[in-house]
Amino acid sequence: MNINLISDTVTRPTSGMLKAMMNAEVGDDVFKADPSVNALENKVAELFGREASLFFPSGTMTNQTAIKLHTNPGDQLICDKYAHVYNYEGGGVSFNSGVSCKLVDGHRGMMTAEQVEAAINPPDFYHSPLTSLVCIENTTNKGGGACWDFDELKRIGSVCKKHNLGYHLDGARLWNALVAKNESAKQYGAIFDTISVCLSKGMGCPVGSVLVGSKANIDKALRIRKILGGGMRQAGYLAAAGSYALDHHMHRLAEDHQKAKEIGEVLQGLPYIKKVEPIETNIIIFEIDESRLSGEQFVQKLGENNIYIIGMGQGKLRIVTHMDYTAAMHESFLNILKRL
Ligand SMILES: *Cc1c(COP(=O)(O)O)cnc(C)c1O
Repeated sequence: MNINLISDTVTRPTSGMLKAMMNAEVGDDVFKADPSVNALENKVAELFGREASLFFPSGTMTNQTAIKLHTNPGDQLICDKYAHVYNYEGGGVSFNSGVSCKLVDGHRGMMTAEQVEAAINPPDFYHSPLTSLVCIENTTNKGGGACWDFDELKRIGSVCKKHNLGYHLDGARLWNALVAKNESAKQYGAIFDTISVCLSKGMGCPVGSVLVGSKANIDKALRIRKILGGGMRQAGYLAAAGSYALDHHMHRLAEDHQKAKEIGEVLQGLPYIKKVEPIETNIIIFEIDESRLSGEQFVQKLGENNIYIIGMGQGKLRIVTHMDYTAAMHESFLNILKRL
């Protein structure tokens, strides 16, 4: 039995999802003539209480499109130092948009409204880049799946309004936050200008992300997606997987969260584990006491037992639970951990 905990992106479609994909009605989405893509886009827009949404092949392209539509070359965006848009999108912020990032030293990937306001360059001081966008990430990836306090997000939203800044949410794992904190998508739709969500992580789809916002912004996004080469033809086979996931896979995320907590409890009790970060959703970040065992040795020992996890750098290791991590795998993993 292989137990793959490197990411929640390793899931494969369930038989129910495959059936939905095989039965999808499709057309050419570049001509907006794919009924399954249109149905998914309507569904997501409605879920967030917004006018429109657009289907994308990846979360990276969704975020990059949002950044492009909110900025002009030379501008600056504000994000936490852990942000995916800064760390893990290949420098796309500068490559695609000619924009720089002002990094905020937040807590587990989360900033305060005061920190955001202090990071804005005065617009009349023409020597510094013009601040035009704030990017938030919920849940935070590098921050260990932490969930934002919604009131803080509202306060940052007010700062954006006051200073006329765009407000984008990288919600690759927003579904996990909604389930963990019992929040609604509409709450988020009401305060952000644009939101990107991934269907290929906890939701278990093979491919797919969606950008949601006003009709004007999504019209702009359609043009940018075209330029980035993200226009797909009979994409309805993939969109059908997304609609299926929204109907069937959202509430089960609580199981992933529960399993992550149980793994964290076992890790906490092991003598060679120095620290386990608080676990709120499906990501566990922890540190090994390197005087007893190196992180690499730990990863290798697990690998010998067909259990796969990855390092995050700076001595930190990461485990991510997901749909394909079954109860039997969970039991086996916990037993192996205790004996290791
Ligand atoms: C996974 C992820 C993305 C999108 O990544 P893709 O690999 O392009 O799907 C964006 N933001 C965060 C926080 C992520 O974890």
